[in-house]
Amino acid sequence: MQTLTRQIEKELKVIGRFTEVWCSGHHHGGRQPVTVPGGTVTLQLCPDCAEFFAYAVQKRHTCPLEPEKPSCKKCPVHCYAPPQRAKVRQIMAWSGRRMILRGRLDYLWKYLF
Ligand SMILES: [Zn+2]
Repeated sequence: MQTLTRQIEKELKVIGRFTEVWCSGHHHGGRQPVTVPGGTVTLQLCPDCAEFFAYAVQKRHTCPLEPEKPSCKKCPVHCYAPPQRAKVRQIMAWSGRRMILRGRLDYLWKYLF
């Protein structure tokens, strides 16, 4: 396996966390620990989500635009196949909302107590 740059590692952690939030909100049971490449973060993912995350990791490693890769949102290549691309967008939108909501609750909690 090739050496990870800090940037790749950071991106994989972000997508991993989003996938984990999605998984805990949609799937129940069968979750196993999955270590993010780089080894600093462990996620709890069901087999489907673990497979999706492995796909994302593999795509990130084979990105043809390294090292001047723009963020994936602006990327002209769109290396994900349509089903995975649809899934990642769904995960990012849903988990993003969940995280914002949670952030606000934390804020309220501190403010009120
Ligand atoms: Zn899942």
